[in-house]
Amino acid sequence: VSKTSAVGDTSDTSANVVQRGLHIAGREIFPADSEVFQTIDPSRGVPVASYIEAGAPQVDEAIDAARTAFISGEWSSLSPTRRGRLMMAWGDLILDQADLLGELETRENGKLLREMQGQLKAVPEWLYYFGGLADKVEGRVIPVENRSVLNYTLREPLGVVGVLKPWNSPSLISMLSLAPALATGNTVVLKPSEFAPGSALELAKLAEAAGLPKGVVNVVTGGPTTGTALVGDQRVAKVAFTGGSKTGRQIAKMAGSRLARCTLELGGKNANIVFPDADLEAAEAGILAGIFAAAGQSCVAGSRALLHEEIYDELVQRLVKRAAEIRLGDPLDPDTEMGPIANARQLARVEKFVDAARSEGAEVLAGGRRGSVKGLDRGLFYEPTVIHQAASTSPIAQEEVFGPVLTVFPFKSEEEAVAMANDTHYGLATGVWTLNLQRAHRVAQALQTGTVWVNMYRAIAFNSPQGGYKDSGIGRENGVESVLDYLQTKSVWCELSSQVQDPFTLRTD
Ligand code: NAD
Repeated sequence: VSKTSAVGDTSDTSANVVQRGLHIAGREIFPADSEVFQTIDPSRGVPVASYIEAGAPQVDEAIDAARTAFISGEWSSLSPTRRGRLMMAWGDLILDQADLLGELETRENGKLLREMQGQLKAVPEWLYYFGGLADKVEGRVIPVENRSVLNYTLREPLGVVGVLKPWNSPSLISMLSLAPALATGNTVVLKPSEFAPGSALELAKLAEAAGLPKGVVNVVTGGPTTGTALVGDQRVAKVAFTGGSKTGRQIAKMAGSRLARCTLELGGKNANIVFPDADLEAAEAGILAGIFAAAGQSCVAGSRALLHEEIYDELVQRLVKRAAEIRLGDPLDPDTEMGPIANARQLARVEKFVDAARSEGAEVLAGGRRGSVKGLDRGLFYEPTVIHQAASTSPIAQEEVFGPVLTVFPFKSEEEAVAMANDTHYGLATGVWTLNLQRAHRVAQALQTGTVWVNMYRAIAFNSPQGGYKDSGIGRENGVESVLDYLQTKSVWCELSSQVQDPFTLRTD
């Protein structure tokens, strides 16, 4: 095994760092001669664990295992009720381990322990909901014109689903695709992010402990090369991807070139719009939650605040004050409000955006530089940042920073606010703050985003559809409709009479 680093500085590599294998067909595999990479705790700068960088042969093996499990019918032909029960049992095991899994995620991605443990406790809900839906997927009897013909539809699984996910909420975001894919009888190869792959391997082990057949859930670790091998393989019937829009385009291109289906959950440049009739205290808390929770490393981060001119000065002042008071610190410490940026690449990206905004004439009202935390000298901290007077066309106003950087803009009218909110190539989520009922619904209808929160922000539920307009994605996750993305429909026609048909005409009767 050769040692190379795929993620960050590994200069103080400890010999004690645990080496994790791949999870294929129910076994932990340590392929000979494969490269390995380490994850680095972004608070301490020390390695967390070492993983296999799966190459094409290992990805091939994982797809083969998933394909074999699919063809065997052990999962796809199991009664949907039984399939659902096994998924629920898996949920129970995850719940038992939620605290440990959450801690593992915090060590790899630096997000607050209470946030990650809370997410892990929510993950089983997806298995309960989609497990419950498994036996409610029904075909239809179609009343075609000719009454001697019986026409009905069957909903059938696709086969192997390739699931590629980011580091910011590893288990939760993976489960958004795994649960509907598995409920409908597909098998999966999951490729978690190279920055936080630990929990995915644990989830796969728990799946088998709950009774899911081996090969139904496989995990390959690695970066873009591993992902490319997975997306490019003809045997992968569908790709479920969550990540950046740039990567999403590449994934869609690869999947499209071999006509595989693709669901994309991508980035956002989400706005919080505050009207003068809003409850300002609630709006202030919502804006803070939107951008500084998880240090802005959330696809739905509310990175733009559009504030009516009448309340602009007051609200900006309050936001700047609150931003300066946020407690940066160790994400394992319950008193911490904002942890580090997840990795060095991401920190460099945040710095670049803020520096560019500054040099283009925008004013930094709070933060705008690396943060420091006593005792965590190697931590990748960045201060909660508030910027104003940025041009609406500048990168800080248009592009996803994925960090704790809020850009504020004034507006004069409802029409202007809606136009500003819609004026990006993204379309993921918007927050609307108003106590005027008519305005709330009028604006919700005019916004070009897949989610609109009114007088609230940053909420998710297994039964409410989530996804992006424009460059924020294709398809929806969560909710009943999402299972249709993992099924194909077969139409079965049966002639019930013994009438002989004219062989030379298309039957449209
Ligand atoms: P990313 O696009 O860099 O990586 C996502 C996944 O794709 C990772 O597993 C990565 O290894 C893999 N990958 C990267 N390049 C690849 C390539 N060329 N071929 C195949 N696979 C490749 O994203 P990230 O930095 O891990 O995560 C942050 C991004 O994810 C942000 O843009 C954020 O908005 C987005 N995100 C979206 C949602 C959503 O639901 N819409 C949720 C969370 C995060």
